[in-house]
Amino acid sequence: MTPPPDAQPRLWTESPEVRVGPVARVAMLAAIDKLYSFSVPDTLAAQIMPGKRLSVPFGRKARPAPAFCVSVAPEPWTSTLKPVIEVLDDERLLSDQLLELGQWISRYYACPLGRTLSAMVPASIRDQSGFRTVRGYRPLDSDASSPPGTTLRSTRRQAVIRALAGREQPMDEEVLCARANVTRGILTAMVKAGLLAIETRREPAPAPDFDQPGAEPEFQLNTPQKAAIQRVSTLAGQRQFKTVLLYGVSGSGKTEVYIHSIRSVLAAGRQAILLVPEIALTTHLVDRLVSRFRDVAVIHSGLTGVQRSLTWSAIARGLKRVVIGTRSAIFAPCPDLGLIILDEEQEGSYKNQQSPRFHTRDVAIKRAQMTSIPVLLGSATPSLETWYNCDRFAHFERIFLPARISGLPMPAVELADMRLAQRERKGVHLLSPRMQSLLAETLDAGQQAVLLLNRRGYANYLVCARCRHPIVCPQCRVNMVFHQTTEKAVCHYCNTRIVVPRRCGDASCGGTLVRFGMGTQRVEEELHRKFPAARIARADSDTMTRVEEYERVLKSFAEHQIDILLGTQMIAKGLDFPSVAFVGVVNADTSLAIPDFRAAERTFQLVTQVAGRAGRAEAGGRVIVQTFMTGTPALQFAMTHDYPAFARHEMGIRQTLGWPPFTRLARLVVSDPSQARAAQLAQETAETLRRFLADRQMPAEVLGPQSAPLSRLKNRYRYDLLIRAANANRLMEVVDRIRKQKVIKISARHVLIDVDPVSLL
Ligand code: ADP
Ligand code: ZN
Repeated sequence: MTPPPDAQPRLWTESPEVRVGPVARVAMLAAIDKLYSFSVPDTLAAQIMPGKRLSVPFGRKARPAPAFCVSVAPEPWTSTLKPVIEVLDDERLLSDQLLELGQWISRYYACPLGRTLSAMVPASIRDQSGFRTVRGYRPLDSDASSPPGTTLRSTRRQAVIRALAGREQPMDEEVLCARANVTRGILTAMVKAGLLAIETRREPAPAPDFDQPGAEPEFQLNTPQKAAIQRVSTLAGQRQFKTVLLYGVSGSGKTEVYIHSIRSVLAAGRQAILLVPEIALTTHLVDRLVSRFRDVAVIHSGLTGVQRSLTWSAIARGLKRVVIGTRSAIFAPCPDLGLIILDEEQEGSYKNQQSPRFHTRDVAIKRAQMTSIPVLLGSATPSLETWYNCDRFAHFERIFLPARISGLPMPAVELADMRLAQRERKGVHLLSPRMQSLLAETLDAGQQAVLLLNRRGYANYLVCARCRHPIVCPQCRVNMVFHQTTEKAVCHYCNTRIVVPRRCGDASCGGTLVRFGMGTQRVEEELHRKFPAARIARADSDTMTRVEEYERVLKSFAEHQIDILLGTQMIAKGLDFPSVAFVGVVNADTSLAIPDFRAAERTFQLVTQVAGRAGRAEAGGRVIVQTFMTGTPALQFAMTHDYPAFARHEMGIRQTLGWPPFTRLARLVVSDPSQARAAQLAQETAETLRRFLADRQMPAEVLGPQSAPLSRLKNRYRYDLLIRAANANRLMEVVDRIRKQKVIKISARHVLIDVDPVSLL
């Protein structure tokens, strides 16, 4: 691996004595951008390797501090170069390839290397939980391997020596006992007698037992599926890097393509990683994969530290060959990776929301490129970034699964105009007459319905009946949501809860507060009123704090003990229930109105996704989307399930406005508890950046500052700046220069940087 250019060894001029010897370059675990060099003492030379952590004397006081070793190479150095103190890991935590990937992430996402590398390894591996001490033995005296002498009194001792004959490496205790058919006591005695040397090392405890795959389904793959599998297998077989978009509506057979593509890679003795947006919401998919393969490792948040490290090391030893997981699974230490798959590649949850703020899809593409393997991205509504890349770049290609396997058409989507619905009736109704009558039909026919609402809580807002001012969070300045169960107003960003005041907070007004908008609870009440006989369940993060509760509700829905399932968008994903005949979106406007240039794209995705839940087994699935804005193109295109047309339309807008995918953004969020200081810092940052870009004639521009849509979060005022460049390379170059030359101070506290943000809230 080539070290980054700024990794100069430290040379002190006052000391004349220069020698050449191994020098370790390290990235400190503390968030420091620079690399440092330390000399390698002879005693540690055999153990120091890239990808292990070292303890090094750091700072003016030369205190021991942890660091990741990124390379070791002979170099001239002077005697004042401080030596490494200690090696902290017995085994390498990161392979050369993952180290290289880490360097790219660190650079592209502007995160110090040590912190990036740390984030790539599970905490439990870093703490070595789940590891055990293994004793190994080798013969001490070279004579001992010759025919039995006086010291080898017993035949058992002779057996031990025979078993070890000719070996350079120590043999593990277990193995040696088995081969020589002796107990551990014999070995211990032989060590005491000076016949054997004992060496200990730390190694992961054995991997859990293999799962037995279940039965294969009996159907024949269709022609488009076969073609897709053929293509991916060929690329994998030829060790060719390509990003393949597998574009097909839900139910078009993408998962089968994943399964068979993985199989072809396993048959060649290699490993595969399948990434999903969230394990708990994709249990269907995960169960299906687990039932079709041996040796699957599912990395999910429910794993204990020990389980996690066992899984990690089983993958590293090639015992687990299919890895399924969320974001961090892209760092799985597969020694011989053959394929990476991302399901639902457009999902925002693939973006890590903490530094390093990497996008799993882009890291996957980078890893695939470094490994020379294909990466398969699956989606019914691809991100515009991916769609655009397919049009533009030779290393992207599109494969289309044109129809639902069942042969059934996509369900009809209707828009219900809530302006009309309100006009026709007295009082506030959350369900339009059309929605109500279709629900009634569905229930009468003994079928099931899913209703989707984007917000939780009883009523979205509490507003003053007189001045119309809503109650806002004192910390974040966003509208608070009223929760009936606790009778409190809750901020969904910082979780602040307050007792609802009786009167409007504005002293000069003092009007009474009324509930406005709608939440799942209120819709549930209306449903109970209108359909007293229906069995209704609510699935949102208020009723469901644990994954098991969610799974329990889904199970009873699957068993048809529930007629109407009401929930937030968590229910839009991955559900596959044949008897769902009706899906309703209660209010599409909540997602259209978010202040983000991706609002239309998100809305299209949401509606398409829920529509995919309807009528998966029988014809005649129906979808109603309630909105006050029926003319919105995103909704119009969603009605006809026409992703390519939506993409064309939306691309036009993005191009005109200069938004991604036509440009790349880095978002800087400047924050401070004092509004004046935050505003000033934001202003200064913007000016400094503009001056820097102009002076260097760098091809990028700065937008802002402006108050962030969430202008106050966790008691800090927030301002936004965007750096915009024509493409990823230019953006990386600019961000890199800004960091290296310390043009502005990027710090977790005051100025955070988010490269390729997926949300501008
Ligand atoms: P997607 O992942 O695109 O939603 P799936 O792979 O889950 O699609 O396929 C939808 C359903 O059709 C699943 O129940 C699957 O078992 C079944 N299926 C997939 N391919 C075929 C096929 N060629 N013939 C019959 N059924 C299939
Ligand atoms: Zn708040």
